[in-house]
Amino acid sequence: MEIGNIEKSAEGAFPGRRSITLYTCGCNLRCSYCGYFGLLGNCEEGDQYDWKRVEAHLRKRLDRIEGVIFSGGEPTLQGDLAASLAVVRNLGLATMLETNGTQPDVLRKLFAQGLLDYIAMDVKAPLENYGSLVGRRVDTEAIRTSIWCIKHSGVAHEFRTTVVPGLHTTRELKTIVELIHGAERYVVQDFVSTRPLRPELRGRPAFPHKPLEDIRAYVERRVSAYEIRHSDEARPMPATKRRRRSPAAIA
Ligand code: SF4
Repeated sequence: MEIGNIEKSAEGAFPGRRSITLYTCGCNLRCSYCGYFGLLGNCEEGDQYDWKRVEAHLRKRLDRIEGVIFSGGEPTLQGDLAASLAVVRNLGLATMLETNGTQPDVLRKLFAQGLLDYIAMDVKAPLENYGSLVGRRVDTEAIRTSIWCIKHSGVAHEFRTTVVPGLHTTRELKTIVELIHGAERYVVQDFVSTRPLRPELRGRPAFPHKPLEDIRAYVERRVSAYEIRHSDEARPMPATKRRRRSPAAIA
């Protein structure tokens, strides 16, 4: 398994569990807003953590963590993902997978082997808009199949969209919600513009939360839980510069 980075997971990243995140190298998409471009290709040999080192790292922290998140890049591209998940389970830790949903056959096998305790899948856009957002031709039937497999897996799950102003609208988010209808949780998360793949997105503020809140009733009629996930690293939308003139000034 090619691991490019290991980090303590952000608070709440693995619901209900303190965890460590393993970032695998290589991704088959090129999302314009991706902030992980260092992990999109194969990692240089010297930059990789070999699996023995990863295991030693986990063993040392067994008294402090309860789970491990496999993230990326795209972890389902790693041939030995199932074996690595099994090792983590054998250490007594729970497993979570973060995926872009392009490899439904891999997901099916992992579910059949019972190797996952939680799965989070990005649904990046309505299916018809995928190609422009992820910078590649995408087999959208594979995305649809992954959504179906996850919803019927019996494994705790969430679907997520990183919401980028100018690339998403609340109407599109509603279309995504129709796609995942019946899911356990839908998370819309702030776009962080520090190092996006497409330079023109650099510095762009996060999508305002008010319109995301306005669609809550719509979303909650279709999925069990809806979360607007804030990131401290996101740039807030600046307050409008236009000042309303006072009644006295108007008179
Ligand atoms: S955001 Fe897109 S390009 Fe970046 S790692 Fe995830 S799927 Fe790959």
